[in-house]
Amino acid sequence: MVGLLAEGNEVLCLDNFFTGDKRNIRHLLDNPRFELIRHDVTLPIFLEVDRIFNLACPASPVHYQFDPVQTVKTSVHGAINMLGLARRTKARILQASTSEVYGDPDVHPQVEGYWGNVNTIGPRACYDEGKRCAETLFMDYHRQHGVEIKIIRIFNTYGPRMHPNDGRVVSNFVLQALRGEDITLFGEGEQTRSFCYCDDLLEGMCRLMNSPAEITGPINIGNPGEFTIRELAEMVIELTGAKSKLVHRPLPQDDPRRRRPDITQAQKLLGWQPVTPLREGLKRTIAYFEGLLREGVC
Ligand code: UDP
Repeated sequence: MVGLLAEGNEVLCLDNFFTGDKRNIRHLLDNPRFELIRHDVTLPIFLEVDRIFNLACPASPVHYQFDPVQTVKTSVHGAINMLGLARRTKARILQASTSEVYGDPDVHPQVEGYWGNVNTIGPRACYDEGKRCAETLFMDYHRQHGVEIKIIRIFNTYGPRMHPNDGRVVSNFVLQALRGEDITLFGEGEQTRSFCYCDDLLEGMCRLMNSPAEITGPINIGNPGEFTIRELAEMVIELTGAKSKLVHRPLPQDDPRRRRPDITQAQKLLGWQPVTPLREGLKRTIAYFEGLLREGVC
């Protein structure tokens, strides 16, 4: 959120540091307009604010499945607490929702009007249903209490400052390649994802936050370039020059077979589309993880 500070805003950053890392914000700590508060959104908080970005919740399956009950609480109680804060302060509030609300989609590419195909009792449900319920709460606070809301559905995102133990496919493959380890394809690697570079996501998120009040979303933000996981592995091997082999591991339960955003709404309403091709974003991400390995951080 460097852009917010550069624009002259005061930023209060709330984090419980379950998956966050203080190294990612250390360059902001000396800025008098930046304040860090260790806080968990499942508990209420009283602050004076005029804009709220509710990004709280672990987003990687390994992290959100570590304590599934807490994951549901983070999305549901967290949304209630943040919406309560927005209502009291008359702040505009943005919810980070997810492509996971589409589950294992029958409609491809995914449009915002598609209601999704989520297994309500599976191991991903704590994340998917938590985020779906948060969307419901946002729309109800908007209709019932007139809170100004924005819902953004974020598709797979990657880039520098990802946690080395994030457990997601980009960080796993890049670190495996840089360490000369085998690259772990879950299943046959034929499932697809569409990877959006972090800066592109932030641009879309800020454009939605600054859009006219009648634009509530949900709006998909993601990169429509669709790749199989095998293609991603091959690109990482090529860009790192690694000698890693591809090895297969079991496909996790309910792993979506394909995913690609339809971004017509974002293009039309926000004038937004991603500008960073996967190859370019991967090069920057590889350089970042090389730096961490050099520093001995991971
Ligand atoms: N995946 C993989 N190897 C890994 C990590 C993930 O093949 O080491 C696969 C995973 O099964 C999924 C895709 O990559 O099909 C994206 O997984 P990730 O956890 O990054 O995100 P999500 O499944 O939430 O989209």
